[in-house]
Amino acid sequence: MTTSSLPAWPPALTPEQQAKLLLLASTYALSHGFTLLPPNPTTPPTSAIPAPLSLCPTPFPRELYELAVRIQPAYNALYVNVTKDVEFLDRVMGGVVSKVDEFQGELWRCWKQCRDELVQPLQLGLFRSDYLLHEPQEQRNPLELKQVEFNTISSSFGALSELAGKLHNYLRASTNYFGTSSLLSNPASYPSNDALRSLARGLAEGWKAYGKDDAKILFVCQDGERNIFDQRWLEWDLLEAHGIHVIRHTFEEIPKYARLGDSSRRELLISDPLLPSLNASEIAVVYYRAGYTPTDYPTKEQWSTRLMLERSNAIKCPSLALQLAGAKKVQQVLAEPGMLEDFLFRGDGKERFSSEDVDDLRRTFTGLYPMDDSEMGKEAYRLAMEEPEKFVLKPQREGGGNNIYREDIPPFLRQLEATSTAPGEPPKKEGYILMSLIEPPQGLRNLLVKGGSLTANEGEVVSELGVYGIALFADKDAGCVVNRGAGTLLRTKGRESDEGGVAVGYSVVDSVVLV
Ligand code: ADP
Ligand code: MG
Ligand code: MG
Repeated sequence: MTTSSLPAWPPALTPEQQAKLLLLASTYALSHGFTLLPPNPTTPPTSAIPAPLSLCPTPFPRELYELAVRIQPAYNALYVNVTKDVEFLDRVMGGVVSKVDEFQGELWRCWKQCRDELVQPLQLGLFRSDYLLHEPQEQRNPLELKQVEFNTISSSFGALSELAGKLHNYLRASTNYFGTSSLLSNPASYPSNDALRSLARGLAEGWKAYGKDDAKILFVCQDGERNIFDQRWLEWDLLEAHGIHVIRHTFEEIPKYARLGDSSRRELLISDPLLPSLNASEIAVVYYRAGYTPTDYPTKEQWSTRLMLERSNAIKCPSLALQLAGAKKVQQVLAEPGMLEDFLFRGDGKERFSSEDVDDLRRTFTGLYPMDDSEMGKEAYRLAMEEPEKFVLKPQREGGGNNIYREDIPPFLRQLEATSTAPGEPPKKEGYILMSLIEPPQGLRNLLVKGGSLTANEGEVVSELGVYGIALFADKDAGCVVNRGAGTLLRTKGRESDEGGVAVGYSVVDSVVLV
């Protein structure tokens, strides 16, 4: 039994039934593009593997799922308003953080260098707000929804999440999960999830706002990307549903093919080496599936490329400012008293949102603390040293695998202090935030498929819900041209693994059944 209102999970399936589900899931995955490239693929690839998957969808409280979906437009507006506030971003990201965190410092300096001469007023956000269920200590209390983080760059797995929902629905339709669970048998348990089409539509809305029929979209991607099909699905949907062409390039390739137009419009032009006679294509939207981590910028050249793209007339998804707004430091500052009201009620926010929306957002916050020398920072330091089992320490990084958990925190902080900084420089710990650990409900398990086989792991699992959001907005407008939710993702991992990235191999793509 679980300790909470969730049912015991998964239902009792015999080894033969599991093997049948695995066979059906694997063939469905391979033929419907729920896939990753294998390690060290050939060029062109000659094989794919099923993406990591759970054989059963995972129960999730309907009320909290609907809450997460309902509040997404408010979260979108919140981060849009942060992005528009130059003075705030300068204070929070351009101050101490930029001095102690080289990567964030470089992002901020790059933005500062170009922000007064930008020609494109519009920006596009494809966001994902991530949550865990929290089981309050007083276990008879209902489960709560707690935000892990808010991603403003390279929010991935939209396509695979839509496919995971379809795959689970297919297993239901074809096997009824062998009658082992009334929840799984009921089609009404499975919410519809159109994350792929909705995210593609968001990119298309940016493209349309640019206003040039033959313009294309540039995907900036990483070399050797194994999660390629998640990106290709977006390309295919852009082409098939919207007639929009995509060009893919890595940061390394862009300088070879890209230039800015001579006019004051500074259009971004990309030439195609296979079509030398054709005029270069104008780019309407630059969509980053790279650029969120320091390893994407091994030399100054990648920073120059980022700066060139930022200065161009293309709509950036995201802009440098929007990327900075997604920093964990901003999440922590937004949890300070009064901040939510201040940012949410700006522009047309007073008409769009109410104090109930503020309450809904705040209910999803957990303890967030600065690591500076403010009173709160000192208290956070004490807590981190004396009760580390309750906390996670986070640097300003994306992509998984960067956080410091529980008992590792005190020696890590001592080490940071020992190696700290020249006189007059702020202490390195100020580049981190401290966050209360969310405690997901216990007793849930699932059948996890990795590399095409069922993992032996019979342990408990933890599921992280992501809600996608789209915002298209201009600096000077009161509100957004587009502001809406865009489907969901569920990732499930073994409870013993603190980190949750599918791409880094810890978790699987899952979907919800609502209870
Ligand atoms: P990243 O931007 O690298 O994905 P996250 O803040 O999402 O960073 O942290 C990575 C993972 O660490 C999450 O997916 C989640 O599994 C775990 N995690 C992060 N914050 C918490 C928290 N407050 N409580 C419990 N687990 C957390
Ligand atoms: Mg993140
Ligand atoms: Mg994350």
